[in-house]
Amino acid sequence: MHDVWEYRPDPGHLQAGRFVFTVDNGRGRRLTFRIARPRRAVRDILFASVRTDTADAWPWAYVGVYEPADGTVRLTGGSRFAATDLEVRVLAFALRVIHGRQALPAGYALLPSARCACCGTRVATRTATVAGFAPACSQRLTQAA
Ligand SMILES: [Zn+2]
Repeated sequence: MHDVWEYRPDPGHLQAGRFVFTVDNGRGRRLTFRIARPRRAVRDILFASVRTDTADAWPWAYVGVYEPADGTVRLTGGSRFAATDLEVRVLAFALRVIHGRQALPAGYALLPSARCACCGTRVATRTATVAGFAPACSQRLTQAA
């Protein structure tokens, strides 16, 4: 059951700092990904992670470095996954969809997060001016554009 409205985030929004989205395969399987800027980074860098179903205190498993220039994720030494793992392959194709290089396969859907991609505030998708952002943050984004 999917809404007629199809969520397609602006590729630029992936650099907001706390961008989270979910890929739904339409058959009951979902993977949630996060593109985030670490708080104490010496340079501007974005880490891609996937939400795990384990009861760990920290639910995000590190995948790799997100490269905004080409919309890919580069696996690094600290990656918890191999290039052939499902999580890595799903993230790669979802990023190609977001960057307009590939169509989403039939039955699949991208779902926005319930929290603002900038500040982490809980947002209602229907009231957010830009999907996935709290009103104050989406106003800032609109002004910056
Ligand atoms: Zn915000």
